[in-house]
Amino acid sequence: MDSPVRVRFAPSPTGFFHIGSARTALFNWLFARHHGGTFILRIEDTDKERNSPEFLNLIYESLRWLGMDWDEGPFAGGDRGPYLQSERSPIYQAHLEQLKSAGRTYEKDGATFFRLEGERYTEFDTYLNAEVEKVRAAPVLIDDVIRGPVERAEERDFVLVRANGEPTFHFVNVVDDLTMGITHVIRGEDHLSNTSKHIELFRALGATPPRFAHLPLILKDPAAGKGKMSKRDKGALIEEYRQRHFLPAAVRNFIALLGWSPKNDQEVLDIGEIIERFRLEDIQKSPARFDEKKMAHINFEHLKALPIESYAWCARPVLTESGVLPESADETQLQQVLSLCQPKVDNLENLPSFSRYFFSDDYPEDPSVRERLLKKGEPKQLLDELIPALEELEPWTAPALDDAFAALAGKTNRKVHAWWPLCRFGVSGVGGGPDFLPMLEVLGKPTVVTRLRRFRDTL
Ligand code: GLU
Repeated sequence: MDSPVRVRFAPSPTGFFHIGSARTALFNWLFARHHGGTFILRIEDTDKERNSPEFLNLIYESLRWLGMDWDEGPFAGGDRGPYLQSERSPIYQAHLEQLKSAGRTYEKDGATFFRLEGERYTEFDTYLNAEVEKVRAAPVLIDDVIRGPVERAEERDFVLVRANGEPTFHFVNVVDDLTMGITHVIRGEDHLSNTSKHIELFRALGATPPRFAHLPLILKDPAAGKGKMSKRDKGALIEEYRQRHFLPAAVRNFIALLGWSPKNDQEVLDIGEIIERFRLEDIQKSPARFDEKKMAHINFEHLKALPIESYAWCARPVLTESGVLPESADETQLQQVLSLCQPKVDNLENLPSFSRYFFSDDYPEDPSVRERLLKKGEPKQLLDELIPALEELEPWTAPALDDAFAALAGKTNRKVHAWWPLCRFGVSGVGGGPDFLPMLEVLGKPTVVTRLRRFRDTL
């Protein structure tokens, strides 16, 4: 790399923060971190009608939630600011003057146009139903890092400043990339069609254009249909992951795989590995596909890999917000319960319903499980055998419980597991859950015995 890497994420605060934006931000951030470069956040807020402070905040919050810190930009400062386009008018004005004095602009219908170089001719445009002026400009070569060389020739002059005085996206985007010293423009493929204009502008301003890397499209989850993923598709908004308590590290891992892969089919990676292995050259040209199941799988794997202290740190607010856990809950007891849940719960959003009965005697019962269990065998008989055996058990540990069930089986000539489904339901109200004996151990003898008696009384 010739000069230190400087990349930017340049969102417009005109809508919810979606996965496509997050991917663009992440790939820029990863590239900067891989090369020890600078990651800049620039807000493209020139569209006054459609900007909103809520959407702007959502950009900051989403980037922070995903752990993408920016080195220059709002809040971070930097010597190439301001970093909001709405505050950069004098800079645009100066560059407009430069283009004017170089004879590269003209005024028409109140707007300022950029003048392409090349032979001019007129042609009838069937779409506009009018004669239009066209230019035979030399083709521009876009040496795209991902797509390879792409040649395009602009054939119409384009607007730099609208009749209402507002500079256009093409103009401010190029002036900012130029003045902010951007070395690589990494952005969505939808911008490829703008890039020849941008290169023309860089050259007219006497600058060498940055390298361009256009990221592939993101297609819908096959289950959601065909075509490009839209902001309305399930899983499209970063806010949704946050509200559903996905781990930000997992979401980031998943997003990194939308068009990039570490070349060894590894799907679950920590951020250090991703940074180390991330190369623009390894990004695929073909579209990436959103895959909800893969997201769920990666989230589960990240959850399972957390040390129990960190797991509890993430889980506690989810449990207290849902009313399952009192604020004052003891940390040791919480971690005991969570170490049973961690291998089983694929998403923290499912944790409250999975673990409610550990923290309260007031939990729902699954009627279908009840019906199934009571239909077969002799539930009263089984409970009458089990309850006294558990009442006298000391110490109350999983191995001792294991022995107790074995002894009971010997005495009654039943299988060791004969009491398990009934007992599990009696103490939890459901048919599945954590490993059975450790679950009884953590619930504790008084709770188990009381709940089994209560259950017996309902039969
Ligand atoms: N504001 C543009 C967008 O959100 C940025 C384009 C670019 O990265 O150059 O699409």
